[in-house]
Amino acid sequence: MEKLLLIPGPSPVHPRILDALVAPTVAHTSPEMAADMSTALDGLKKIVSSAQGEPFIFAGAGTLSMEVAILNTAGPDDRVLILSQGYFGDRMEEICRSFGIAHDVLRAPWGSAIPPEALAARLRESRYAVVSVTHVDTSTGACAPVEAYGRVLKDSGILYIVDGVCATGGIDERMDAWGIDVVLTAAQKAFGAPPGLAICVFSERAMAKRKALPSVPAYYSDILRWLPIMKDPKKYFSTHGVNEVRAFADAVRMMLEEGMPARLARHQRTARAFRAGLAGLGFSLFTEAAYLGDTISVPVYPAAVDDAAFRTALGRNGVVVAGGLAGTAGKLFRLGHMGNLSRDQILFAVEAVEKTLVELGYPFARGSAVSAAQAELG
Ligand code: PMP
Repeated sequence: MEKLLLIPGPSPVHPRILDALVAPTVAHTSPEMAADMSTALDGLKKIVSSAQGEPFIFAGAGTLSMEVAILNTAGPDDRVLILSQGYFGDRMEEICRSFGIAHDVLRAPWGSAIPPEALAARLRESRYAVVSVTHVDTSTGACAPVEAYGRVLKDSGILYIVDGVCATGGIDERMDAWGIDVVLTAAQKAFGAPPGLAICVFSERAMAKRKALPSVPAYYSDILRWLPIMKDPKKYFSTHGVNEVRAFADAVRMMLEEGMPARLARHQRTARAFRAGLAGLGFSLFTEAAYLGDTISVPVYPAAVDDAAFRTALGRNGVVVAGGLAGTAGKLFRLGHMGNLSRDQILFAVEAVEKTLVELGYPFARGSAVSAAQAELG
């Protein structure tokens, strides 16, 4: 039986997008490929509200996008400030360390994010060329106030990178209005496309910065090697993930057909539905209320529920979720709810949680979570 994949990425892939994936492979420099690539690139700019930015799509995943973002903006004389609220903020620190990029980290306790005032205070103390932020850290569910950081960074001359791997396409990101210089992301989460692509959009300022650097310590990840290909996708630099790009182009088409305001509102409703269902069953949320995002929920088990038993039985009932990372392992599970989840899929998942808890002998009013979720979905 196919299981509903509600881990925090990859997300379930809609049949229309899967159809695009399995169509015959075409040449990486063919007009068909170029048309899909251009559709994806143009759509991407709309999704992150960037009028003049340069979008990049190439084979890889979110971690490659992180490298691309930092290597093409931070030069040898620059210092980077990383705002970390979890595992993936810490990964940006490791990337900086791997490439010898000077950096500092402001770390928030797991479940929260760095308040904008703390960013402002740090900027009064030290000089930075780049600030890098994780929009939603998948380890904790904490969603950073990226618009407010943008206000702090406005007119500072500092380049502003946002890791949108667990947000872009499901939570608003407005590059132009919020002063974001790089959105880095990947295909497999809120876009609802299969994994396999690194995706970035660079602002004009970020492009100017790259062009001002004589070189970067990268070859495949050097955006100046990709720029001519993104402008004319019939040109060759390195072979595209042809099928993935075609699937991603369809994911983008679906997003624009739905319309971004409607899509973001749907993600909000979906998050509310899952949380209403789980709250009635005695789960609390790990993420502090002020930092909840709409793409992932991190429910903490009631005392009577064992993590391994719950996730194994839930899997048998058709739904896959992820366990906690590091110190949170065993205490909570991580539930991704992004992309193109249908109302039926959401209700199926809530019903599966109920069924699982019945099997585990956990007392609750049967049907209550499904009705609470239904009430939110309208
Ligand atoms: N950043 C965030 C916020 C993520 O959630 C992830 C993946 N879970 C990554 C970066 C890394 O992406 P990938 O696994 O596609 O390399």
